[in-house]
Amino acid sequence: MNSTARRRAMDALKRQRAPAPAGPLFAVEEDDAEFEHDTLDKVSVLFPLPLPEPFDYRAATSLGIEPGMHVIAPIGSRLVRGVVWDVQRNNPAAANLKAIEEVLPGPPVPEISRIFVDWAAKYLVRPPGDLIRMVVRSPEALFPPPTYTVLAPTGETPPKLTEARTRVLEEAAKEQVNAAELSRRAETSSAVVKGLVDCGALVKLEISEDPPYPAPDLSRTGKDLSDIQLAAAEEVCASVRAGGFHVALLDGVTGSGKTEVYLEAVAEALKLEPDAQVLVLLPEIALTQAAMGRFKARFGVTPVEWHSAIPQKARRRAWREITAGRARLIVGARSALFLPYKNLKLIVIDEEHDSSYKQEEGVIYQARDLAVARAKLGECMVILASATPSLETLVNAQLGRYAHVKLAARHGVAELPDVELVDLKEAPPEKGKWLSPKLVRGAAEALLRGEQSLFYMNRRGYAPLTLCRACGHRMKSPETESWLVEHKYSGRLVCHLTGFSMPKPKACPECLTPDSFTSIGPGVERIEEEVREHFPEARIEIFSSDTTPNGDAVRDLVARMENNEIDILIGTQIVAKGHNFPNLTFVGVVDADLGLKGGDLRAGERTFQLVSQVAGRAGRHEKKGRALIQTYAPHEPVMQALAAQDRDAFFAAEIAEREAAGMPPYGRLAAVIVSAPNEQLANEASKTMGEKAPIVEGLDLWGPAPAPLSVIRGMHRRRFLIRANRGVDVSAFLAAWASRVKLHSAVRVQIDVDPYSFL
Ligand code: ADP
Repeated sequence: MNSTARRRAMDALKRQRAPAPAGPLFAVEEDDAEFEHDTLDKVSVLFPLPLPEPFDYRAATSLGIEPGMHVIAPIGSRLVRGVVWDVQRNNPAAANLKAIEEVLPGPPVPEISRIFVDWAAKYLVRPPGDLIRMVVRSPEALFPPPTYTVLAPTGETPPKLTEARTRVLEEAAKEQVNAAELSRRAETSSAVVKGLVDCGALVKLEISEDPPYPAPDLSRTGKDLSDIQLAAAEEVCASVRAGGFHVALLDGVTGSGKTEVYLEAVAEALKLEPDAQVLVLLPEIALTQAAMGRFKARFGVTPVEWHSAIPQKARRRAWREITAGRARLIVGARSALFLPYKNLKLIVIDEEHDSSYKQEEGVIYQARDLAVARAKLGECMVILASATPSLETLVNAQLGRYAHVKLAARHGVAELPDVELVDLKEAPPEKGKWLSPKLVRGAAEALLRGEQSLFYMNRRGYAPLTLCRACGHRMKSPETESWLVEHKYSGRLVCHLTGFSMPKPKACPECLTPDSFTSIGPGVERIEEEVREHFPEARIEIFSSDTTPNGDAVRDLVARMENNEIDILIGTQIVAKGHNFPNLTFVGVVDADLGLKGGDLRAGERTFQLVSQVAGRAGRHEKKGRALIQTYAPHEPVMQALAAQDRDAFFAAEIAEREAAGMPPYGRLAAVIVSAPNEQLANEASKTMGEKAPIVEGLDLWGPAPAPLSVIRGMHRRRFLIRANRGVDVSAFLAAWASRVKLHSAVRVQIDVDPYSFL
């Protein structure tokens, strides 16, 4: 592409709004003699827009357009970038179509990615354009990487070797830098440097800003594995070598060495072919950093990182290298699943039960489930690793659909902690406090032994409710049915749902009484206040997304915890994930009942997973750990199972219940959320939708009902819930339903296949 064409294309990409010039526009010249004899192709282009299907264009056959290529084509008066979805060669009917404007040079989207987009669009009942947008995540990567110029010595001796010239050549031999930097380092004028270029002693080199990544070193070996780990590693490695679609659940308590085992499978997969790729998904961006270190130690190189927070330049480089098959080992968040891998052989999903694999906004999807589907389409292997697998995965393993690879014990001498329930009715905290004396004693004992403690409270901020003592007014988020959470450190009231925040008012906005607010209920900040009262000398910190808003802050806090610079940590669920603190021996769970409230399908399962993961933070090394769990419901099966650390009994009971009720994985669920800017419209729209629903055998439709979060950002929400027998094609039902209704343009309909949130 010449520079004018490139600039024009870049402008179009930036604005996606350039007017389409008149007349036929091929990227080849119109007056090209060959054009007279050229045939026309019909080219279907999928745009990253919510359109129902690809649009058709014409292009000269001589352009050689193939499916997967990136092009620019007009939609109305706009020029838009898209991906070629289909090409019909020599189709005279194409003559009446608009022409493709430009063919972009970026690496084409591989066939498997296109198949996956079509499949996922159908499954999730979304326009395919919404999915291709998740594939082509870096439009800049569609152009050759920008370059910069450096100077390198050629080895030629210049005719006149002055002192200044010698200095320049010496500096140039040390490092390749640009002319200005070279003259600065050699403390001479730019004319001297130019003279050396002119006489051929220095040569200009164009260096890519996005060089390929160094390849993983596959000659390295991992840690010496125990017999149990070795057996597990051999099993997964054998599956990798066998090739094809295969899913294995790697099931072992925290600290049993699941990561060490899957690193072996990663190595095995990378050895399969020179361009074989491996994707490792992690639940939290914050966790990526610790994982990166382990990958670097194992393979000698840092893996390619992919998540929403990586800078644009890194994104551009990663995207191009992944698509070209040169990036081999990728570690990322759920969105990395959609990247156009050229030759993906293995997907590892660490902490596969984690709720962050479900994307709840925009395109709603469960990355774990989609990864299995992607692997099936692309014939690759999946390893799902967890100490507390999701019930869906466990059932698949029990039914033999997934291999069940178990790591029974903790690695080395580390034992599981002792877990005890604290019945809050029998051992209540003091009035207005949240920690029972047993928890305080547990932390005091650890402190005396020089060991660390963790208090787990899964709520950010100071207090979840702010109430006026004088008139009873509760501070609510504007246009949203949600209370404002007090954050004492920032002095603000925050809506955890919409992100709205305001300074805490000095007087009640209802009755104007000054200083009348009282804080109801605890958050981490309030627990910290209480812990400080008990242990004024201790080094105490909070670990929540407020105190550690980015990877650096997490790394810093984790390092201080590992170095024993913190005695007592108070954390939200962010602490439950993957961290390994050798000197942490006491865990106090402040409110184990929290996750059970508002009860959705997975409330018990999620509580079990989170609380046992948190308890599992205690005593991961030589020292024995202890966990105390505060609850008002010690007789609930989930609490009994936690105390007995009897995961299998808990899941057996849960599985029996789900099977009896025909709930996932024994049945399918989907949710439809209708929202409108006012209540009347929401009611009317959802009523119309309800009337238009097709009747399908084996499928129950419940609703419409006001959503538990009935108003968010001024949008009034109504929900439908669909339950279907396993054989029913729920996606087809939803698509048929959606095609029957025509709603007011202000109404939004969101489809959530396999919902995890019922709010
Ligand atoms: P999991 O992923 O199951 O939580 P990890 O793989 O993180 O477990 O292992 C827990 C800790 O034990 C890590 O620090 C890890 O390096 C260490 N570890 C596990 N297996 C071995 C081994 N075979 N040799 C040495 N250290 C090991």
